Amino acid sequence: MLNTAIYLLLYLHAIIETFEALESICPGISGKDTILYGVEVKFYSARLKVNNNLETEINNIYAIGDGAGITRGLLQASISGVIAAKDILAKVKE
Ligand SMILES: Cc1cc2nc3c(=O)[nH]c(=O)nc-3n(C[C@H](O)[C@H](O)[C@H](O)COP(=O)(O)OP(=O)(O)OC[C@H]3O[C@@H](n4cnc5c(N)ncnc54)[C@H](O)[C@@H]3O)c2cc1C
Repeated sequence: MLNTAIYLLLYLHAIIETFEALESICPGISGKDTILYGVEVKFYSARLKVNNNLETEINNIYAIGDGAGITRGLLQASISGVIAAKDILAKVKE
């Protein structure tokens, strides 16, 4: 428990140091109005094999969005859904 508390204090200290360093290249970022809600960590190493229509190597199974390692943002994730949906529709019409 004590170890956890020490680590948390060290992380907090590192975050404050980071903001102070960022202040020199982005003035205002460590100002009193900046609110830090949480720290975001992203992992994008996992990526499924898909074709141009985002269909996986398993027929009729599509991988879209960030979870599949395909996209990294709202617009891309949305469009990946549209691409998959269009391909599914085309198959249904065949
Ligand atoms: C703090 C933050 C800020 C961001 N700011 C921006 C920004 O400014 N601009 C931008 O373009 N992108 C931003 N992003 C990234 C953007 O949110 C993602 O790229 C986008 O939401 C990915 O969309 P998605 O549909 O792939 O996944 P998500 O939006 O994560 O949707 C996945 C959904 O699946 C649901 N789910 C998970 N597991 C299961 C399950 N087992 N069964 C059923 N449902 C399940 C989840 O509840 C979730 O609703 C931000 C992300 C974060 C975290």
